[in-house]
Amino acid sequence: MGKFEYAPAPESRDVVSLRESYGLFIGGEFTPGIDGRAFKTISPATEEVLGEVTEAGPADVDRAVAAARKAYEHTWALMPGTERAKYLFRIARLVQERARELAVIESLDNGKPIRESRDVDIPLVAAHFFYYAGWADKLEYAGYGPAPRPLGVAGQVIPWNFPLLMLAWKIAPALACGNTVVLKPAETTPLTALAFAEICQQADLPPGVVNIVTGAGETGRALVTHPGIDKVAFTGSTEVGKEIARACAPTRKKLTLELGGKAANIVFEDAPIDQAVEGIVNGIFFNQGHVCCAGSRLLVQESVYSEVLAALRRRLGTLRLGDPLDKNTDVGAINSAAQLAKIRELSQVGEAEGAERWSPPCDLPVKGFWFPPTVFTGVSQAHRIAREEIFGPVLSVLTFRTPAEAVEKANNTPYGLSAGIWTDKGSLILWMASRLRAGVVWANTFNKFDPTSPFGGYKESGYGREGGRHGLEAYLDV
Ligand code: NDP
Repeated sequence: MGKFEYAPAPESRDVVSLRESYGLFIGGEFTPGIDGRAFKTISPATEEVLGEVTEAGPADVDRAVAAARKAYEHTWALMPGTERAKYLFRIARLVQERARELAVIESLDNGKPIRESRDVDIPLVAAHFFYYAGWADKLEYAGYGPAPRPLGVAGQVIPWNFPLLMLAWKIAPALACGNTVVLKPAETTPLTALAFAEICQQADLPPGVVNIVTGAGETGRALVTHPGIDKVAFTGSTEVGKEIARACAPTRKKLTLELGGKAANIVFEDAPIDQAVEGIVNGIFFNQGHVCCAGSRLLVQESVYSEVLAALRRRLGTLRLGDPLDKNTDVGAINSAAQLAKIRELSQVGEAEGAERWSPPCDLPVKGFWFPPTVFTGVSQAHRIAREEIFGPVLSVLTFRTPAEAVEKANNTPYGLSAGIWTDKGSLILWMASRLRAGVVWANTFNKFDPTSPFGGYKESGYGREGGRHGLEAYLDV
């Protein structure tokens, strides 16, 4: 059966006006960096330069922390929750108003399909601000005592896979609780954070409540080790997370870490196979697999292995890879040359270790960073592609016979962020969920996010929860 041919349906870029260069957002103003260093951010789909961004040095981080401290002590922490809530609601509404523009910027800078930035990322960003706006004047009912206090200044470092959404996960609860923030976006995806800085100005947020310092790992290090901050929130690799945990250990800083994952997506023989295949595709090919909670290990019950694999291959043959701004695109670009090299390397390791590699026929664009949807079968638990986070559109397939074996294999990982269960039986879902060592367990769905629901991991996936009532704890002195 041939693929339907779709005419191109590109989203217009006219709604976006990118600047040639961007300053740092400190104390409510865009300001140049002290030592004048800058770097370029590119579109990973075309390698086109999108703009020049300031690289914040230690002195800039110092200025940002001082601005956040001043705003904390003189304005934000003193403001009643009802007033803080108004700002958060205003930000949420401005995100909605500028949603189309933000979605296009996100897809340009990150490489993710517009369908995803438009329908998932940006609506969830607004939802997070709406949700935490609702908490700002109700903190005494959150279960953390009659008058929970904020921590102070939060230093927040976020990755490139969901740039604006990770910003929302960090900034919305911090502000709701009365903290001020200095946030560093990832080097490859700073543009929506800078657009968010404009939104803070539009919302008349008091200067210094939100500060955005752009830069690479060194800027992140300067921020998380800065003695003037009270709280560190980090999402990214386990390796950097461990370094940050070591740096924070001898200090009084409160720390939350959201790190990698190697989630099992478990399909039982009584699962509705077509829906399960959609869930498998959504689990690992959503956002090019650049998802910490991606269902990167598929565990299929042996009795339905051939059926599931055949249906999965058929479905992958219909995925469209290409221009992230095309509304028909399912799989966009890999975020960076470095990430592409990592995905290629681990895929080669998979082959060398004896697993069988398969991809649907798929033309890759010549320019930019691309990797086809890939499935490895014949994977054993000891293989590196079953143990390490690939963070790309690569699925490792394993099999099991009994629920107990499924639990054992699912938990046989250094990570513990998420898991999925596909079965017709509610009792099996509950039995499995109570045994899986994963922060989030999805049943007959995958990669569903909601601001009311806590998210976070066990083991090397980090500690602390973001989202929901639980997400408040990370920003309160409790
Ligand atoms: P990193 O952990 O290096 O990056 C995450 C953020 O931390 C970025 O803003 C980064 O800046 C910053 N950073 C880097 N080094 C330091 C440091 N020493 N102190 C403070 N901040 C720092 O992830 P990578 O982008 O290098 O990705 C590598 C791997 O990490 C991926 O292949 C994937 O496996 C995993 N990953 C997991 C994520 C998750 O959500 N769990 C998200 C992203 C990656 P900069 O971008 O400038 O380097």
